Amino acid sequence: AERYARPHMDQGKVATYIPELAKGDATKLGICIRTPDGEEYCQGDCQTEFSIQSISKTITLILALQTAGYDRVFSKVGMEPSGDAFNSMIRLETLTTHPMNPMINAGAIATTSCCIKGCADPFGAFLTLARTLCGRETIRLNKEVFTSEYQAGGRNRAMAYFMQSENLLEWDAEDVVELYFKMCSINVNVRDLAHYGLVLACNGKDPATGKQLVDPWICRIVKTLMMTCGMYDASGEFAVKVGLPAKSGVGGGILASAESRMGLATFAPGLDKRGNSIGGWYALEFLSQNLGLHYFSGQAAE
Ligand code: GLU
Repeated sequence: AERYARPHMDQGKVATYIPELAKGDATKLGICIRTPDGEEYCQGDCQTEFSIQSISKTITLILALQTAGYDRVFSKVGMEPSGDAFNSMIRLETLTTHPMNPMINAGAIATTSCCIKGCADPFGAFLTLARTLCGRETIRLNKEVFTSEYQAGGRNRAMAYFMQSENLLEWDAEDVVELYFKMCSINVNVRDLAHYGLVLACNGKDPATGKQLVDPWICRIVKTLMMTCGMYDASGEFAVKVGLPAKSGVGGGILASAESRMGLATFAPGLDKRGNSIGGWYALEFLSQNLGLHYFSGQAAE
């Protein structure tokens, strides 16, 4: 997978909207697979920590569904792919009364607001959930990235205040975006995300311990929205070519999950125009083709 992906990577550009991410090293590539029987396959930069960024939106959605339930969450946010850039606000005013889905910024800000009411320490709850799903207790907030996000957060604030004026937020806009920025600013590595992808693949159960970490109905919703909306405005193309529920982030990570078979994760900070990691995309395309992972390859039912 590494050999297949590397030649494409020089077309990528690291994210520069905040100075902390602009420091990313575009030559890095890490690939990890974890399976239900405890096997782990790693290639390249598997211990390197990077910023989770938008991959956190999947964890936020789990927490929101656990905290507020299905009806409350989906009264604030829709389930349809937007086809627009992740940070677009155009549809907020013109086409719908609520953000299109929980995988774009506006939608994730709305789901973030559902994690606050009745919770004494929402970021603590998020961090505990992230650590549990990733199977690593030492996952932490990267304060430099958080500060950078917080200072450069005008566009996300604009969306939050707009949604507040439409009664779509359950909490004060400023507190909601602060929590959203923190959620985007934890550091992870591909081993962590492959563990999380495996838990999703096993419908919320950690196969190593047999513990049910997330209810199956929540996993079903999260994986479905990853499949339809997880790869920014290239979600349709990724579904055709790779055929796995996946979520990418501008930190260069991609999380993917192959139903009951494995969790996968990649890291390569060079991004394409739509914000997806180029190295990660090609690595996952290679693995999907060679391991027969495409959801509609016919092998899923065998
Ligand atoms: N924290 C980023 C933002 O809100 C997330 C971007 C991303 O990974 O898509 O702009």
